Amino acid sequence: MRVGVDVGGTTVKVGFVDNYEIVDRLVVETKKETLFDDVCSEVKKYAISKNYKIDGIGFGLPGHIVGTFIDKLPNVGIEGLELSTIVKKYFPNIEIYCTNDANAAALGELLADENKKASAYMITLGTGVGGGLVIDGKVRDGSHSNCGEIGHMFIDYVHKYQCTCGLCGCLETVSSATGIVRLAKEYYNKFKTSLDYNSLTAKDVLDGAKKNDELGLYVLDLVAESLGRAISIIELAVDVDTYYIGGGVSNAGDILINKIRDYYKKYAHFAVKDINIKRAKLGNDAGMLGSAYLW
Ligand SMILES: [Zn+2]
Repeated sequence: MRVGVDVGGTTVKVGFVDNYEIVDRLVVETKKETLFDDVCSEVKKYAISKNYKIDGIGFGLPGHIVGTFIDKLPNVGIEGLELSTIVKKYFPNIEIYCTNDANAAALGELLADENKKASAYMITLGTGVGGGLVIDGKVRDGSHSNCGEIGHMFIDYVHKYQCTCGLCGCLETVSSATGIVRLAKEYYNKFKTSLDYNSLTAKDVLDGAKKNDELGLYVLDLVAESLGRAISIIELAVDVDTYYIGGGVSNAGDILINKIRDYYKKYAHFAVKDINIKRAKLGNDAGMLGSAYLW
C-alpha cells in the first residue's frame, strides 16, 4: 500500500492508495507545532488497525522543499525542518518522498488520465496561481525546486499591478481569484453590470460572464488571454501534451477553459497548437494520489 499525504493550511489529507485508486483516507487537523508527528502517528495507528502494509510515503507540501528538507511552508508556518528524521521515528524502514503540492496534484491528474507516463502541466488558479510539471510520468522540481512558480511570470504589461512577491505584472495579479476581483473593480465603471462592487468575488464575476454580464465577459476575456499567453510560453519551455486547469477558479468550467484554449491557439507556436487544455477533474484528491506515486 502506498501512502500519499496532502498537507494544507488547515488540514492534512492522507490517502491509502493501491493500483492508482485511493482505497482509504484519513484527515488530520493541522497543528504546526506537532504536524508531522501527528500525521505519522495517526497513519501508523490506522495502518496497524487495518492491517495495511505500507511501501512508502509521499508528501505534497505547500511551499518550498528541497529533497526531504522543508525550506518554508508559508501558510502552515513551518520552516527549516528535515522531514525524514520525523517520519523515520515512526516508519524506520520505508522511503520518504516530497514535492510541492502543485507538482503532486499535476501527477495525480495525469495518473487519473489514460497515459500515465505522459508529460503534463497543471495550473492551479486559487488565491494565487501555481504550477506543477510532470515529464514522462515523473514530477520535476527543478534545480532550485522552483519550476512551478509560474504565478510570478511577468505577463501583464497593461496594468502592472504590484504582486505579493515584490514584482509587478505577475500572472497571478490578473488570473488568480484575487486578480479577477481586482480586474473587475478596475473596470467596474466602464461596463454595464449587475454585479455588486462591495461584495465581489471571482465566482460572481465568472458567473456574471455566463449570464452575459458585460463586466464579467470583459474580465473573463482578460483572464483567459493572460492564461492562454502564459501557457504558450510555458509550452515552449517544457513541451508537454496536456495542461490541467485546477483550483477554485476552474470551477467556472467550459466558459473559462474554452477561452483559454482559444487564446492559447492564438499565441502558440505552430508546432504545438494542438495540445490538450482541460479542466482538472480530481479536485482535492489529486494531491494525495500524486504524492503516493512520487517513487
Ligand atoms: Zn509575483
